[in-house]
Amino acid sequence: MNEFSEQLIAELAAITPFRLLKSGRTLPVLLPFYHLVSDRDLPYRNNYDYPSVAQFEADLDFLLQHFRPIGLEQLLKGDDLSGCFHLSFDDGLRECYELIAPLLKSKGIPATFFINPSFVDNKDLFHRYKASVITSIFQSRNIQLSLQRTYADLASLDEMAEEVGINWDEWLADNQPYMTMEQVKSLQNDGFTIGSHSMDHPEFELLDEESQLEEIRESMDWLNRKLQPTIKAFAFPFTDFGVSDAVFEACQRERLFDLSFGTAGIKKERFNCHYQRLPMEQNTALSTQRRLKQAFVAYRLKALLGKHYARRS
Ligand SMILES: [Zn+2]
Repeated sequence: MNEFSEQLIAELAAITPFRLLKSGRTLPVLLPFYHLVSDRDLPYRNNYDYPSVAQFEADLDFLLQHFRPIGLEQLLKGDDLSGCFHLSFDDGLRECYELIAPLLKSKGIPATFFINPSFVDNKDLFHRYKASVITSIFQSRNIQLSLQRTYADLASLDEMAEEVGINWDEWLADNQPYMTMEQVKSLQNDGFTIGSHSMDHPEFELLDEESQLEEIRESMDWLNRKLQPTIKAFAFPFTDFGVSDAVFEACQRERLFDLSFGTAGIKKERFNCHYQRLPMEQNTALSTQRRLKQAFVAYRLKALLGKHYARRS
């Protein structure tokens, strides 16, 4: 739980100039991340916010005005990263190829796309998206439904889909939410980095250590075979909460990746080469400056209490 109320953070953010908040050599490097940018209403994303194309462009322009974009290789080198940012995008949705990458290219911004091998080419659908599709069908029939929607509930979600007449193969063929392998390769050819986001996006805190490691090993192995990335990057699905030091140590020992990422916001990290990213899809009604100010205020308040390191338990 946050020690500081949202209201306090919002009020401090409102009165503090951005230039005072954004700089300082002790600040962690800024790593904003998104899943999706779209002007469309997408039924599989009804549990999540996402920015419109115009809001996303405003974010990019603001970031470029105040920070320097860097590639993953510079993050790995880790020299002086103050005033820098690296963008990333999770889940491999097709808007990454159709909308996001062209915008990034036009503005000269490097980025990393984290994908789930099980979903590439629209072979399967993330369990939370399945829950979202089922819910929207019930809503269209005016039935309120509260669905369990974790990885552990996947079998019951599939059963329920069958009951309401959804065939996932047909749904995937019709909707094609994900990028194809060809599109992923084209992003890589354009100079973007491709990383792994686990095989099929389970909540890691529900898995035991060996299953967590298996998800990392299997997905990194797939990535190495299919794309041979020069930098091996892994973004924990959802968050890295519930991932023990022993798992990080095993990853380092087995050299499963060069860099890994969580989603705890602006936070310091105890592990070398593990970084926390800032979710950018919340409160998109606020300006980019206001959202970033609130994130920096929250970090600085926590730092006063010595609580600015990411916690995993
Ligand atoms: Zn994800």
